[in-house]
Amino acid sequence: MTVGPVARDAATARFFDGTAAGQFLLRRCPAGHFSEPPAVACTTCASAELGWAPAAGGATLVSWTVVWGRSSSDAGPERTVLVIGELDEGPWWWSQLAGADPASLAVGQRLRIEFRRGTDDHEAVPVFALA
Ligand SMILES: [Zn+2]
Repeated sequence: MTVGPVARDAATARFFDGTAAGQFLLRRCPAGHFSEPPAVACTTCASAELGWAPAAGGATLVSWTVVWGRSSSDAGPERTVLVIGELDEGPWWWSQLAGADPASLAVGQRLRIEFRRGTDDHEAVPVFALA
């Protein structure tokens, strides 16, 4: 599994502070609804008063696809499995799935969030793995 270089900007700095500490941060409104990290207003009640709260790290597999890259070795083209997971807090998130055979996947399987870096000087990126 390869994770490309990711750099923070002003809009993503707080999120990547979380991933550096091993936390997947979600947005949470005063009513307790969770929204995905890029949300600027609560996706349930439209409140613009969003704070940050760590997700527990569990999710359920919603869907997936396989993307084939260029052949970089005799082993053939690199296979990337992209999945959509429904986080236990409600928001959906898509990312790579680490170390799983796509032929063995089924909707409803349990996932967990892990963090990977392209290199030491890049941001930690959340990916999914089978729980
Ligand atoms: Zn809300």
